[in-house]
Amino acid sequence: MDYFSGHIQELIEQLATLPGIGSKTAQRLAFHIISMPKEKVEKLSKTLTETRQNVRYCKECQTLTDTELCPICGNPKRDHSTIMVVETPRDLAAYERTGKYEGVYHVLHGAISPMLGIGADDIRLKELMTRLSGDVKEVIIATNSTLEGETTAMYISRLIRPVGIKTTRIANGVPVGGDLENIDEVTLLRALEGRTVL
Ligand code: ZN
Repeated sequence: MDYFSGHIQELIEQLATLPGIGSKTAQRLAFHIISMPKEKVEKLSKTLTETRQNVRYCKECQTLTDTELCPICGNPKRDHSTIMVVETPRDLAAYERTGKYEGVYHVLHGAISPMLGIGADDIRLKELMTRLSGDVKEVIIATNSTLEGETTAMYISRLIRPVGIKTTRIANGVPVGGDLENIDEVTLLRALEGRTVL
């Protein structure tokens, strides 16, 4: 049974489709939005629409950006011969927050998961292999320490071996099953410094 009139109910239902938003949170957000000044709501909706329209994949590292090259790939001061492979743009942000990594990234947008039917062709691996024909000295595999992350790391290392580029895996400082984005910066740096050659 719907307690709320059409528009309100529709807003609650739309909000509830977002990850991590249950029906109670959706109601709270909906009533918050309704109580906001109209200009603020317009600004929010404009931001949503414009972000969705303008965001695309960086042509180098595949992270989400609104320019052809993301700010990291477009920065000549970064070390473009060291590529850190991560699962998501949020993992990239976690390493950027440490402020200590000077290389560039490659964002896979997922990990191989036979259980979920996600294969090597479903993540951005081909794009990574294309980049390796350039001047690359090291590929650091920083996928999560989940089963999927480890499977993906192994798969990539096997793929790169014939190419002859040094491939390393971040150390076990990252707890098993841990999502990179929830780990503090010191642990991330330790994991990076303690990386091992695959
Ligand atoms: Zn990029």
